[in-house]
Amino acid sequence: MSDRRSIAPLPDLLISQIAAGEVIERPASVLKEVLENAIDAGARSIKVRLDGGGIRRIAVCDDGGGIPPEELPLALMRHATSKIMSLDELESVVSLGFRGEALAAVAAVAELTITSRTRDSAHAWQIQSGRAQPVPAAGPIGTTVEVRQLFDAVPARRKFLRSEATEFAHCVDTLERIALAHPEIAFWLFHHDRAQRQWLATDPIERIHDVLGGAFAEQGLSLTAPGTLLALSGMVTRPTAARARADRQYLYVNGRCVRDRSVAHALRAAYADVLHGERQPAYVLFLDIDPTAVDVNVHPAKNEVRFRDSGAVHRFVSQAVKQVLAHGAGQAAAQAPGAVDDGDIATGNMAARTGRTRIGQHDDRPSCSSGRLQPERPLAQQPLNQIRIPLHGNDATRSPRSDWRAFYSPLDESQVALNGMSLAEPAPRAQTGSLAQVAPESSADDFALGIALAQVHGVYILAQNAHGLVLVDMHAAHERVVYEQLKHAFDARAVPRQALLVPVVFNARAQDVATAEDHAGALAEMGFDMRPVGPTAIAVRSVPTVLAAGDIESLARAVLHDLAQVGSSDRLTETRNALLSTMACHGSVRAKRRLNLDEMNALLRQMEQTERADQCNHGRPTWVQWSMADLDKLFLRGQ
Ligand code: ADP
Ligand code: MG
Repeated sequence: MSDRRSIAPLPDLLISQIAAGEVIERPASVLKEVLENAIDAGARSIKVRLDGGGIRRIAVCDDGGGIPPEELPLALMRHATSKIMSLDELESVVSLGFRGEALAAVAAVAELTITSRTRDSAHAWQIQSGRAQPVPAAGPIGTTVEVRQLFDAVPARRKFLRSEATEFAHCVDTLERIALAHPEIAFWLFHHDRAQRQWLATDPIERIHDVLGGAFAEQGLSLTAPGTLLALSGMVTRPTAARARADRQYLYVNGRCVRDRSVAHALRAAYADVLHGERQPAYVLFLDIDPTAVDVNVHPAKNEVRFRDSGAVHRFVSQAVKQVLAHGAGQAAAQAPGAVDDGDIATGNMAARTGRTRIGQHDDRPSCSSGRLQPERPLAQQPLNQIRIPLHGNDATRSPRSDWRAFYSPLDESQVALNGMSLAEPAPRAQTGSLAQVAPESSADDFALGIALAQVHGVYILAQNAHGLVLVDMHAAHERVVYEQLKHAFDARAVPRQALLVPVVFNARAQDVATAEDHAGALAEMGFDMRPVGPTAIAVRSVPTVLAAGDIESLARAVLHDLAQVGSSDRLTETRNALLSTMACHGSVRAKRRLNLDEMNALLRQMEQTERADQCNHGRPTWVQWSMADLDKLFLRGQ
């Protein structure tokens, strides 16, 4: 080709800008690099100040060892580091940094100022990106790194940044991840000069409590599996506290927060027996491994590692977690239902017995993970509030209290037995008590799906219609009904909403708070009044009526999660079905919940009125029919 250009070395700044593409994606990635430098410098206290979600300004002030003035220009230079000097040192590196390129990358895409003072310097020195030499400055021992106007000079990258609230949320997430691994360091976070987070130096368990909230720590089982080449410590949550999404899974390898497929898989394997369906465990786990047995130089952003023997790591992690879960489950079962546990029986105490490691070292005081067990109610005892089915039109006459009693009444057990009898005896005389409500005047022939006879193991509804027997998957069917109702209402732009008597306020991560803010309009359209009430709390004041009886908090969290995936509001229409399906799933009756016959019949009637009720949202059938002929065949009748 005639228009071929000749080969030329790239200008220095451009090299750094290209390299920055790999490590600096958004303010949170700058924050991560700068925080890691402060930790490598031995800081005991780190203050972070952000403006404009970190886009306008990130300032990190540490009290670490500082940088001598003659080295300040080198700090900004690409491939200059104080952390390794040889390949040998790389292979056994224990510092968080080692590539010597973060500050150079930041300086290439933002205004960077470093002010630093070592212990034996009379005053601080300051250097700015673009300047060759430092100048004297005022400042305490330690280092302050200030980054302004990120990506101003690189408009192509600037475009990819989201709202300030979202960028701020990412920064908070980054700070949380780092703070969890460094409880010995105190952290402060300010946004626009307002204090947002403050974590004082403490022990690992308290830090988990401070960062992730009391609820997390209360549901946590602390874990210590010491070993010579491999050691695991931290906290995993009880299966009952599992979440709809994988948002609280923190894994650290030698103090570095990473994603790792084989460890994630080991965790899934450990929870496999005790965790139902798509639920996600939550955990904070510190894996300590001989540094020569792991390669940390896999990716410039250092979010991944490669284990020399990932099979061994997998086995170790899944064994350790399995053990603690088995132990924890036993403890929970041993508790009398409703009894308040005031002893140290939770597995949190295992650490006390196994002795000292990261997590075990503060066992001389009551571990916050033990002794605070919530009495766990089996699913079947949760209040009858996830399904609201009109009782042949006179729902309003039933008080919530009678709902509650119907649910808790010991009749529930006998109902199944009684109805079991009625199977054998088509016209049972025992239509008394609560069973008398089975609309005695209507017959099975009046309805396509017939009349409910019984519930089978809390999962299926057994009904009799003109043709024979009908078996309904209760959860799948109800989910479908709710989903279709939501779709209709949504299309008509009139999702009936119900104000909650008492708003549901829950602790949310900054990410969720940002989503609620960014998508206020979309949320309103979907029937939600969900607004932030502080930097880490969201209040839900109304929800779509069909979902009002469900678990509002988990519904709200799931919706926010889906909305965050959607991104901009104009993509909402494309993804609305997925969203409505998430909502339906959270609003529909769970398996293992006992329904009374009225509720079962009401569900059958709703199914008859719902389009496409024959399949659940995931394409499985919601009900099956056995004709009398099918049944006769089973018993070889008339053959
Ligand atoms: P790396 O961390 O990979 O060495 P960086 O570009 O992040 O590379 O930092 C370059 C060097 O600057 C570090 O090796 C360290 O010597 C010095 N440095 C950076 N930040 C600090 C800090 N907060 N305190 C002390 N020294 C620092
Ligand atoms: Mg670094």
